[in-house]
Amino acid sequence: MLCPDCKKEVELSKGDPQVSRVRLNGTVVHATIEIGDLCGECGRLVQGSKTDIERDLKDVPSLKSHLQHKRKVELLKAERIYEPAEYASVKITYGLTCDCDRLPMYEGTLLGSAKMVVQP
Ligand SMILES: [Zn+2]
Ligand SMILES: [Zn+2]
Repeated sequence: MLCPDCKKEVELSKGDPQVSRVRLNGTVVHATIEIGDLCGECGRLVQGSKTDIERDLKDVPSLKSHLQHKRKVELLKAERIYEPAEYASVKITYGLTCDCDRLPMYEGTLLGSAKMVVQP
């Protein structure tokens, strides 16, 4: 890729995914992911993407009896996974706990992928 600052072709280094706004809305867990590829020489963001991902948990058997309870969700882990050149993918692991304390922490994953956009 061409780095606009270095003004030459450079190797990109994959930035760690940024995950924000991990939240529950009814039975749907949402997260926003930001992915960036950085110039290997100067560290400038060369291409990146931001996307929202979500998954409805209403059919997860272990959660069925807790759907009316107050639950909270937290981010446990985010990692970049297999990616063809213009796309980046992130796998998020989240933990869901219930206020009633009778639910062992439910760990779920969300998968998101986004087309990378060159950053001017
Ligand atoms: Zn550069
Ligand atoms: Zn519960």
